[in-house]
Amino acid sequence: MSEPSIFTRILTGEIPSEIIAETENAFAIRDIAPKAPVHLLVIPKTAEYRDVVQLAAGDPALLAEVVSLAQRVASEHSDGDFRLVFNTGPGGGQTVFHVHAHVLAGGLDEASLRG
Ligand code: AMP
Repeated sequence: MSEPSIFTRILTGEIPSEIIAETENAFAIRDIAPKAPVHLLVIPKTAEYRDVVQLAAGDPALLAEVVSLAQRVASEHSDGDFRLVFNTGPGGGQTVFHVHAHVLAGGLDEASLRG
């Protein structure tokens, strides 16, 4: 069996992190190394899907729940506008293979907005 992901360990309380919002199937935390004034992560509670492509194919309703929670935390922690990033695969910058959305908000600079 593979090791639990860092996000599963946060969800179970093994690694300390404040869960800032939660739905039945997803939760949100602050990124430990923020790349924007507001940088949150929205994560399905299940570790079954390694990336957004698998999640979209396997459980589109859960992907919609992640997007909806992203909108909610962007409203609660900023003005409601946000950038949603799913790094996908090592070449796409993904380092944790338990699918998660980066919610970037709060005064993004021009370079960041151009991607
Ligand atoms: P990615 O590189 O897209 O897989 O994103 C993984 C993200 O998880 C990075 O932005 C890390 O800064 C973040 N991260 C890693 N460990 C923690 C932690 N303990 N608490 C919050 N965020 C974390």
